[in-house]
Amino acid sequence: MFDLVIKDAEMLDGAGGKPVHGELGVVAGKIAAVGNGLGAARETVKADGLALMPGIIDGHTHYDAQITWDPFVDPSPALGVTTAVLGNCGFTIAPCKPADRDLTMRHLTHVEGMSLDALRAGIRWEFESFPQYLDMLARQGVGPNVACFAGHSAIRTFVMGEDATERAATDEEVAQMAALVREAMATGAVGFASSTAEAHNGEGGTPMPSRLADDRELRALVKAMGECGRGVYMLTKGSKTSIPYLEELAIEAKRPVVIAALFHSNTNPTAAFTTLEQVNAARSRGHRLVAQTSCCPLSMDFTFKSPYLFESMRSWKPAMAAHDKEALGKVYRDPAWREAVRRELSASRGRLVFNSEWDKLFVVEAAKPENRKLEGATLADLARQANKDPLNTILDLALSENLETTFVAQLLHNDEEAVGKILADPDTHISLSDAGAHLTFFCDAGFGLHLLGHWSRDLGVLDLPQAVHRLTGQPAGIFGIPNRGLLREGYAADLMLFDPATVARGEKRRSHDLPSGAARLTTSAVGLHGVWVNGVKVADAKGLCADRTARPGEVMRRFNA
Ligand SMILES: [Zn+2]
Repeated sequence: MFDLVIKDAEMLDGAGGKPVHGELGVVAGKIAAVGNGLGAARETVKADGLALMPGIIDGHTHYDAQITWDPFVDPSPALGVTTAVLGNCGFTIAPCKPADRDLTMRHLTHVEGMSLDALRAGIRWEFESFPQYLDMLARQGVGPNVACFAGHSAIRTFVMGEDATERAATDEEVAQMAALVREAMATGAVGFASSTAEAHNGEGGTPMPSRLADDRELRALVKAMGECGRGVYMLTKGSKTSIPYLEELAIEAKRPVVIAALFHSNTNPTAAFTTLEQVNAARSRGHRLVAQTSCCPLSMDFTFKSPYLFESMRSWKPAMAAHDKEALGKVYRDPAWREAVRRELSASRGRLVFNSEWDKLFVVEAAKPENRKLEGATLADLARQANKDPLNTILDLALSENLETTFVAQLLHNDEEAVGKILADPDTHISLSDAGAHLTFFCDAGFGLHLLGHWSRDLGVLDLPQAVHRLTGQPAGIFGIPNRGLLREGYAADLMLFDPATVARGEKRRSHDLPSGAARLTTSAVGLHGVWVNGVKVADAKGLCADRTARPGEVMRRFNA
């Protein structure tokens, strides 16, 4: 007797095989049979010809904080995600000494656009070490399955305190960090994650701790990870970290290196392809480099209270050091500062997050009623109309509204022909949802649905079995996640039932449901009919439907070599 049988489904196996019509039976949270005429079940779901695939594995999330107050990590499971990888870029909250909690939250609030009030009100600090963090998650239960990285910035802060954002580590400190990486790997980390990206800054514009690591530290920690014969090194790389260097690390540690973030830029259109060629050349030499990319255009909602897209610029430093609106206003009004920004925008065009594409920067929401008419206009147009320079135009508008104007910038990855080529490369890892972070800038938690609908059905860049594979079997292989990611007997019953004719991610919307009432962007699914985690239904066509006390996810601690 099965617990659950799903009948009359077009099954996509996650390995890239052709769809097979039939039934799937579940016993005790595992796939017990795939075939036809399976027989009696406690519950039968008639799929009426809908598609059934393994649940989506989201390889790049930042749910480390949210999961402590929201074990279902809304909205991901309602968007088909049954497994989330946490701790990307090394921005974890464990290990953390009680004295460093506020410092850690202030880093996160800035680098990942999380509300500080929400973090202070929400995080349950019932841990200090990484193993204790995993134990706490297991005790409280989790909605989807989770895998956690050992995070470089957290480990560096644990060992060096405030100095973590100030200086290189001593040999003794590197040894202590390496010991913490070993401890995390021994107790269930999926790997070690770090960032050298210039855009990753904490409070006041201080670089995130991992950015202060020198070559000796990075090598030592990646090697410490690899000693156990398992684990993935994940890096969000800055402009100074080269692919050949990462290939060296992969050789030394004998482990795969997952490299974020491969975005296509209209102002530097060959850069992404050069990186991809280097990664593929390394793979052809037998070294496991994986380029992590996105299937969503990178656009950001922002205000001038915290304009993330400008913050990797050197000239922006004075603004980042300003802690309130008054101080910010003073910087923004300064003609000399504006001139320095203008100079850098022009000198570094093609290498910045925002590359002066003023025609792709829009007013979303004006604060004053008389400015409502500007909503939807581009800054290029507004500047032309006012016969002003676009930088002056945007700063003057923001200042006139007490920095409350919301803008959106379409930054990267919006040339569909170029992005299609990157997605069609069978070895790129499609993820980068950044779910759980940048909550006020964007919400790409529904990236999987977007791949299935937009890229596969509408544009035909990948066929459906391949698109499914890229969201399931492929990432399971990259992260060494055992017995998930395929519709196969003995595998976990992580399932997603959907309509290939309509599947899509919904429009983004603003919701004020974080602890302390802070706002975030969220989205709903289109064409999704059911999501199961380890055989337990967690979402239906209307969204999350799980009894929130039954938390079927597994805190994973064992990974394949
Ligand atoms: Zn990230």
